[in-house]
Amino acid sequence: MTDDLDLKVEQLTVLQTKTLACQNCHLRTGCQGVVFGEGNPHSPVIFVGEGPGQTEDESGRPFVGKAGQLLDRMLKAVDLPRDTVYITNIVKCRPANNRTPTPEEMQFCLPWLREQFRILRPRFMVLLGLASTHGIIAPDLKMNQVHGKWFERGEVRMLPTYHPAALLRNPNLKRPAWEDFKEISRAVKAFEIE
Ligand code: SF4
Repeated sequence: MTDDLDLKVEQLTVLQTKTLACQNCHLRTGCQGVVFGEGNPHSPVIFVGEGPGQTEDESGRPFVGKAGQLLDRMLKAVDLPRDTVYITNIVKCRPANNRTPTPEEMQFCLPWLREQFRILRPRFMVLLGLASTHGIIAPDLKMNQVHGKWFERGEVRMLPTYHPAALLRNPNLKRPAWEDFKEISRAVKAFEIE
């Protein structure tokens, strides 16, 4: 088991080095660097947002601005502290002016997320916001209809919920997002004691 965990960390480090050197799309020319992702590589759950913002671009870390701080608080409140989960984005380079990445940009960058997924082998994927929901589940979904619902893909369970930045813009979304986070925690805890 320890060997398997060590191999996972080693593979992730190799992948990170390759991803940080990526120049496969035009987003790389408008940002300071690639934001790979971070967290516990042994976690059963991965959170996938849409893309780095300015603070993330400057720091090289995902979800560290105001939205990230809200995410941290929500994770802690449902007893899934940030250091127990893995966090990344569907595009690894900041779209200019924090705009939503286009479907084409997401397709360009998806191979890196697929590789992260292949190495991490999470059992749960939480899609933070419509961009990752559209890019990974289906492009025609509406968040108010699908948030908090599980989508099964093979052995993986995927749940869309509101992006924390949307909660900062519209506090009315905090209540439904809170219910989603409680459901995520319930499912992860149940899996961990199986
Ligand atoms: S957004 Fe993704 S595909 Fe485009 S340059 Fe950055 S890492 Fe490469």
